[in-house]
Amino acid sequence: MICRKGCGACCIAISISSPMPGMPNGKKAGERCPHLSIDFSCTIHGTAAYPKVCANLTPSIEMCGSTYAEAYAYLEKLERLTAPGTPSAGADELFRGFTVESADAFFKRLMTSFVLSVNGTVYRLHELELYYFHSNDHPDGSVYRREKNAGDIFFHEYGVDICFQTRRDGDVTSYGGVLIRSIRTDGGTMICGPANCRQELLNRIARTGGEQTISFRLDASPAVSQPELYKCERTVGATTAKDFALAGYRFITGEFIAFISGKDASGYYRSLFKDTVFKLL
Ligand code: SF4
Ligand code: SF4
Repeated sequence: MICRKGCGACCIAISISSPMPGMPNGKKAGERCPHLSIDFSCTIHGTAAYPKVCANLTPSIEMCGSTYAEAYAYLEKLERLTAPGTPSAGADELFRGFTVESADAFFKRLMTSFVLSVNGTVYRLHELELYYFHSNDHPDGSVYRREKNAGDIFFHEYGVDICFQTRRDGDVTSYGGVLIRSIRTDGGTMICGPANCRQELLNRIARTGGEQTISFRLDASPAVSQPELYKCERTVGATTAKDFALAGYRFITGEFIAFISGKDASGYYRSLFKDTVFKLL
């Protein structure tokens, strides 16, 4: 969608952590940007001073709704859910509300606002794939059947998924999740491939488990990050047209692309990288 003329909800509701012209420390949630004019348009749009963070915010039906009030309510709630220290309930809500139509916005939010936390070790999400089955309108044959609640962690043969809510309504069913393909601790090694991620997470649980309660969950990101995000085809083979393998359901960060283009990435993993990559954020 195109940004609604005279709205400006995002210029007030959201916090911006990066420096902006006249605001070296960014701005707080609810604070009106000084570059928002009286008629709610941006006075520096199209100039060299226009902040990258604003250019990267893509309008969407989910975020903008159809009125200023709807957009403001959505953005205010988003701010609350992603505020530092917010418990993982925000992640459950994110996964419960998933729809395939809003997949881009879902992954943007997941990858910029949440981290995987395993017994105190924090992993950033760098490569994810969408696996979603809906018996009516999204019969993706490559999705494992499961009975899960939103946000559940599901270890399976090939890796680890974070699950959507399994739903049944008569003959109509839907289920699925997000496959974790690559993760990295801050400044740490990039762990590539679903099986390697699963092993890393299991090792982390084993190393720190003992008598402790295992804590494995998505947390609101302690530092609001704005990584560059891209999407491309999934790595699964296109066994049937129904498998959606060619849909842009693989979501990756710019940091991940830089890593696998560098000398430290294995040739095998580099070979899985697709050429058709679209910038998302
Ligand atoms: S909330 Fe959406 S419609 Fe409103 S100013 Fe921001 S991008 Fe535009
Ligand atoms: S710089 Fe412009 S687009 Fe960005 S928050 Fe301020 S008024 Fe909105």
